[in-house]
Amino acid sequence: MTEPTGERIAALRSYVREAGRELRAIGLEIDRDPEAIDRWLGLPAVDIMRGCTIPAEYLDSPLRVGAYTYDMSSCLEHTVTIEELSYGDTGSMLACPGPLMSGVAVSALGDDKQRHHYYERMAGPEPVWTFFGLTEPAKGSAATELETTLVPEGDGFRLTGEKRYVGNAAYARLGVVFCRRAPGPLGIEAVLVDTQAPGFHAEPIPTVGMRGARISAIRLDGVRVEREHILGYDSLKPSRRGLIGAIRTLQRFRPVLAGTIVGLCRAVLDHVREQRPALAGGARARLEDLEDRLTAVRRQNYEVAAAIDAGRVRADRVAGVKTRAAELAERCTLAAADLMGPGALLEDPLLNKLYRDARAFEFMEGTGHIQRLAVFQGVLKRTFLN
Ligand SMILES: Cc1cc2nc3c(=O)[nH]c(=O)nc-3n(C[C@H](O)[C@H](O)[C@H](O)COP(=O)(O)OP(=O)(O)OC[C@H]3O[C@@H](n4cnc5c(N)ncnc54)[C@H](O)[C@@H]3O)c2cc1C
Repeated sequence: MTEPTGERIAALRSYVREAGRELRAIGLEIDRDPEAIDRWLGLPAVDIMRGCTIPAEYLDSPLRVGAYTYDMSSCLEHTVTIEELSYGDTGSMLACPGPLMSGVAVSALGDDKQRHHYYERMAGPEPVWTFFGLTEPAKGSAATELETTLVPEGDGFRLTGEKRYVGNAAYARLGVVFCRRAPGPLGIEAVLVDTQAPGFHAEPIPTVGMRGARISAIRLDGVRVEREHILGYDSLKPSRRGLIGAIRTLQRFRPVLAGTIVGLCRAVLDHVREQRPALAGGARARLEDLEDRLTAVRRQNYEVAAAIDAGRVRADRVAGVKTRAAELAERCTLAAADLMGPGALLEDPLLNKLYRDARAFEFMEGTGHIQRLAVFQGVLKRTFLN
């Protein structure tokens, strides 16, 4: 697959690209002050983010372009959408209200009642920020060893522990927290948490780049959790919920993240072309080489996303494309600083921002080392290259 073709996806891409332009216009403002997103909640891009993965029947005005309606239940359409918004500005896109990863988790794990409750809250008139709380201070990549506990109390539970680097948590009204009800991987659960509940505390963590993601530290001091807030508790076996839910969510979301990275890489390379139209010789060849690599990663990402839509989730390929995209973002931003010449990182605010933002991708949804372990499993099983 090169670019996915067909009227439906072309119409979506062109609509979202326009909406992304407006994010570019506010990108530097959001970088200086991520809370400034509150002034821009009327932008079409915000509406798109608010509706992503919410079924159209819940929304007053679902995303419609011409004869088509989109709810982002398709991984490929979701990926194309996020790529175009990220081309506009990744940080502003991540600062928007909406379901983001929590929506994918609820749709993968929740029973009908839980999904209905979540979609109704997300579709209300007020914007709702959400979070997906997996990472812990002492157990970042070792997610299966997470220590946040869910202890029975009366007819419900108490949630206690800490989460770190969780996007938007300090601003969210609702989120999914992964926690431990019993020892071992099957003892992990995913619970829906209302941030107004007593015992929930979150504060933003200052960062150098990707400031729009507003990563936060969470402290959970015995937050009360009702049984009906444990995702899939009454509908799924323990072996199909908590941990498997985290893995399914991350795998479904990884092409979307890779699309985010591709969007930023396109923004970087287009910016170099616009600012340095006379690049020649080795410098021009270097830029073209990066553009070729970007085309390849983008194509591979569309293939992975389309395979997920077709029910073929390949952990090794999903991991491979995220790693390649994150590596390319490093390479593109380093090369851009070089190609734009001495002083460019100080004098060109957009380049400066893209350079700082790109560093986040190595960590988001699993570091390169962790992704390479998944790729290596595929190499051992001889599935990765076949
Ligand atoms: C912008 C941003 C947004 C984020 N949003 C969220 C979010 O919304 N929700 C959430 O839960 N988390 C989020 N994260 C956290 C992210 O998922 C973690 O940073 C990531 O999983 C790594 O965990 P860690 O930072 O604790 O690093 P560590 O796990 O401590 O890793 C440190 C280093 O050790 C290496 N390493 C660790 N284990 C192994 C191993 N087994 N083999 C080889 N090398 C290893 C890593 O590759 C890395 O280089 C976000 C992070 C960023 C930067």
